[in-house]
Amino acid sequence: MISFFSTSLVAIGLLIHIATLAPLCRLVLMLPAGSLRNKWLFMGCLIATFIAGYLGYIVIIWGRQSEWVELLFPGILLFGAVFVWQTISLSLQTAADLQRISLLESENITDSLTKVYNRRYLDRRLEEEVARAKRYALDLSITMIDIDHFKLVNDTYGHQAGDVVLSEMCSLIKADVRDLDMVARYGGEEFLVICTNTPIAGAALVAERLRQLVESSQIEVTDGAGVKQILRISISLGVAGFSAQLDSQEKLIQAADHALYRAKSEGRNRVAVAGA
Ligand code: GH3
Ligand code: MG
Ligand code: MG
Repeated sequence: MISFFSTSLVAIGLLIHIATLAPLCRLVLMLPAGSLRNKWLFMGCLIATFIAGYLGYIVIIWGRQSEWVELLFPGILLFGAVFVWQTISLSLQTAADLQRISLLESENITDSLTKVYNRRYLDRRLEEEVARAKRYALDLSITMIDIDHFKLVNDTYGHQAGDVVLSEMCSLIKADVRDLDMVARYGGEEFLVICTNTPIAGAALVAERLRQLVESSQIEVTDGAGVKQILRISISLGVAGFSAQLDSQEKLIQAADHALYRAKSEGRNRVAVAGA
């Protein structure tokens, strides 16, 4: 009777350990290759060792007459198995929750069409960067970008083609600027690049490089009739830098916007610098 209880306790512990392998596998699959994943794989090896140990113990105690006190060790083994199960399940749940929160956070600040930051994040970030530039006397420049005659693209090739142009142009710009620079959608087809620690002359060089990059790129779209078309577009850019006069988010954006307006009125496909 006691032997039956002992064996049952260890057998249940063994089954719990085997069941633990399923959430462990899901957890490992959620993780990118790296040291953390390797550590969880090592945990898998430990559990496999436990399974072998529990099995071995069952073989040893099978049918052996024992005292009630000898139930203590199988009981501890069972609680050990429950502990392992609980640890792995909670880890999986925590990882899944963190992944969901991180996805929500990223969706919350990303423009769904172009995958650059959205206006909400732009406003918050620019405010922070202006405060930092003021506090530590750092350089800060922004560039407002607007596609030239974009309405014509929509009217000629359809809105979907226009959307492709927007997202392709953003990919080009994002790939070209530094990782520390920030690209965001300001409005419909207007974008803003924030260049931290960059004087206005440096930002003007970046803007000219972006202008040339977009001008020389070809974008493939499908028009309303389903025919593939290769488009070339150009952009106009207005650059403004943080200074004693332009010492707020609103003033900076206004100055970049005025410069952009000048670039448009001077013929488009060009860079205009505020105050130049
Ligand atoms: P300009 O050279 O003066 O900038 O001329 P423009 O035609 O580009 O004029 P504007 O900058 O005012 O362009 C606004 C157009 O952008 C109108 C609208 O159809 C288009 N647009 C804005 N947002 C989107 C969008 O999300 N998708 C598409 N396809 N088009 C958009
Ligand atoms: Mg516009
Ligand atoms: Mg435009």
